[in-house]
Amino acid sequence: MNTSFIDERRITEVLQEARPPRDMRLRDILERAETLSGLGLADTADLLMVAGDDRLQIMEAAGRIKRKVYGDRVVVFAPLYLNNECVNNCLYCGFRQDNEEAVRRHLNPQEAVDEARALAAMGHRRLLLVCGEHPRLSSAACIAETMQAIYAGADIRRLHVNAAPFSVDDFRTLQEAGIGVFQIFQETYHRKSYSAMHPSGRKADYNWRVTAMDRAMAAGIGDVGMGVLFGLYDHKFEVLALLQHIAHLRGTFGAGAHTVSVPRLRPAAGAALQQAPYPVDDEQFKLVVAVLRLALPHAGIVLTTREAPAMRDELLSAGVSQISAGSSTSPGGYLEKNREIAAVDQFKVHDSRSLKEVLKAICNKGCIPSFCTACYHKERTGAGFYQIAGNRELDELCLSNALLTFKEYLQAENGKLKEQGERIIRKALNDINDEHRREQVKNRLAGIEQGERAILF
Ligand code: SF4
Repeated sequence: MNTSFIDERRITEVLQEARPPRDMRLRDILERAETLSGLGLADTADLLMVAGDDRLQIMEAAGRIKRKVYGDRVVVFAPLYLNNECVNNCLYCGFRQDNEEAVRRHLNPQEAVDEARALAAMGHRRLLLVCGEHPRLSSAACIAETMQAIYAGADIRRLHVNAAPFSVDDFRTLQEAGIGVFQIFQETYHRKSYSAMHPSGRKADYNWRVTAMDRAMAAGIGDVGMGVLFGLYDHKFEVLALLQHIAHLRGTFGAGAHTVSVPRLRPAAGAALQQAPYPVDDEQFKLVVAVLRLALPHAGIVLTTREAPAMRDELLSAGVSQISAGSSTSPGGYLEKNREIAAVDQFKVHDSRSLKEVLKAICNKGCIPSFCTACYHKERTGAGFYQIAGNRELDELCLSNALLTFKEYLQAENGKLKEQGERIIRKALNDINDEHRREQVKNRLAGIEQGERAILF
């Protein structure tokens, strides 16, 4: 398949010409971004050059754009690692085949259900299933079987999947099993760095990986999650390449990235690479996140527990719309009984707060935690999702569903979070301008107090 949509020469030219915009020009770019029309490569490259106090303006604009599209809600999810068996040798990963220290573990469907139940008992409703690349243990059929078992055996409403690239037929298997988002990161779009970081295994094939989203979408999976591993190559190059990739998908399928994740390289036990060759410092990282929000106003921006609590809390005001919470990055890591035999982590978690602590932090930032999965059940996916988001219809839906799902969570709570949450819900309810919608939400909140669940818009 043609992979010329990643045009390294063009990216290099744009970066050579990029200059930090000042005063009028900076204001002009920010004003255009706030119309939610996104940004092209040249504007994005210029913004990535900005230093000093001007960065704050960009972060504030990113916060405003996020609120315009998604309102104050922050979607919360957890990863569920199905295995750490992998045939690849990515230098930065603890799961790599040559890591002899790794305790290998593969969860069978029942063990995965048990983990999912533990997460559901915490309050989670959307999970990201994660597995290594393994032709037998992580085949589409195996993942689909596990998905079906979890849907049947645990109170989980949507499963996203992070796995290796599949064929169109295999992607169809995942689609039929009820996948939400298929997530795969290119890690680095820079071909030379990609080859150096992925010396063997199927993942050594850049083209097979970079065309995975095309096959997923051709199979009918509307929502794809994209990203790079920041630290493997120049972060400015990676951001522009990501935009090229997304523009290609948008042009071909009418929908770009449903989510964009922003992992930064973290040390992992047994990884061959412990230092990032192109480290991204905290200030650069914040700018990257904010600029992505400006360039891709309708994408969910996902920040995981790779980042420290202070960074995660700060970026909630600068464009982030989804975060993982209470995470374990080890197969079998959630169940107490499995702790002693839990396998090696994929990377070291930097935010080890519990789900409850993260929810408190979200509330303290003036945001509303959301366990919503409504769009996947109401066929608001792919190009349809983009259309609704583009028409500015999403913020009200998201807010209403955040209130309902947070209320569901609070039913099992008592103490300070319950009080704080109920206060937030009452205030947000009063702030809904549309009287009809306000009444609907009010009635459904009352229904939840009576034991109703999953009555989402
Ligand atoms: S309404 Fe849709 S976009 Fe908004 S939180 Fe729910 S699933 Fe996500």
